[in-house]
Amino acid sequence: MALRLKLRRDLVCQQAVELVTDYLEDSLSRGDRRRFESHLAGCPHCTEYLAQMRATITLTGSITPEDLTPGMRSEFVDLYRRFQAGTGPDARPDADAGPDAGAGPRQDPDT
Ligand SMILES: [Zn+2]
Repeated sequence: MALRLKLRRDLVCQQAVELVTDYLEDSLSRGDRRRFESHLAGCPHCTEYLAQMRATITLTGSITPEDLTPGMRSEFVDLYRRFQAGTGPDARPDADAGPDAGAGPRQDPDT
């Protein structure tokens, strides 16, 4: 499993979304931060998402993983799907992502 991650140097949007809060709290490792930023550089959707998260922090003063409400996530995933559906044949990060890709919305077993 770790091997698969090593093979994919680029983050896909869902991974980037997972990293947004850590990025804003400056708690990413150097490598993760670099990958996150390089993903943002090529992805207007995640850039927009990050901007939304920043705005949330401005409003609330801080952010925790719990602040990533299901509503925000599903809104983003919806954006992402439209992006996937509406663009060219190159934009298919799932195609070779392995057996556990595309498993749908992630459910936290603890909550
Ligand atoms: Zn993205």
